[in-house]
Amino acid sequence: MRRRTRTRKFIGLLASAFLASIAQGASARAAQCPREGTLGISRILHVDAATTPRVGLKEYPQTLPLWDHEVVLTFDDGPWPSTTPKVLAALAEQCVRATFFVIGKPASEHPELLRRIAAEGHTIGHHTWTHPSLMRIPPADAVKQIDRGISAVEMALHGTATTVPSTPFFRFPGFETTPATLDLLQSRGIVVFGADIWASDWNVMTPGQELKLIIDRLNAAGRGIILFHDPKARTAAMLPAFLRYLRDNGYHVVHLVPTGPGVEFDGAP
Ligand SMILES: [Zn+2]
Repeated sequence: MRRRTRTRKFIGLLASAFLASIAQGASARAAQCPREGTLGISRILHVDAATTPRVGLKEYPQTLPLWDHEVVLTFDDGPWPSTTPKVLAALAEQCVRATFFVIGKPASEHPELLRRIAAEGHTIGHHTWTHPSLMRIPPADAVKQIDRGISAVEMALHGTATTVPSTPFFRFPGFETTPATLDLLQSRGIVVFGADIWASDWNVMTPGQELKLIIDRLNAAGRGIILFHDPKARTAAMLPAFLRYLRDNGYHVVHLVPTGPGVEFDGAP
């Protein structure tokens, strides 16, 4: 009996050591970037509400100044414990950085996961408190959704409940805007992100079908801000193959950061 308990304890120790080594492996890989043979980041683009208040050709006439074969990776609706770690592992494997538009409530429920996204070098933008359509709720509630979401994310990241975002990037749930909320965000210097290309990963399909769809759309567009959803298991599953495709077909990943003090290297060629 005692032996069995000891054996079980030993197996438990082995399992936790194994899990710890996986976690260390992922962060070690992230720490070893740039790394030979990986996709990597081609440059860092500073995004400023003064020059680009709204970006994304699906919704707006303007987008980011990307060159041919440059892409920006964005992931909405996290953090999500069952899938976000897989997305982070895929990004670390190829030494690329993305922008996550996170929802305030899950961010406050999984603050360690949110901090891990930031610690691995990704940019964290905002996506309301509980993801309603801001077009279909009273205007005052829409403002509350924006502010409470920002505040929850700031609290989880920096321990301060402020409605002034440290990264002034915002994406509307379902891209459903109103003139008043667009004006509000512009007046606060917050960049509104749409998208140029999406994987339609809200539709039921296999990871292989999603991979083909996004590759076809990217090749047709040639460049752009790509929208994925990190709580979607099919997206997490196809991401490693998609990043390898980018690496092997001459695409470059651009990392977005806000303008402001403390950012010294812009990596622009
Ligand atoms: Zn969303």
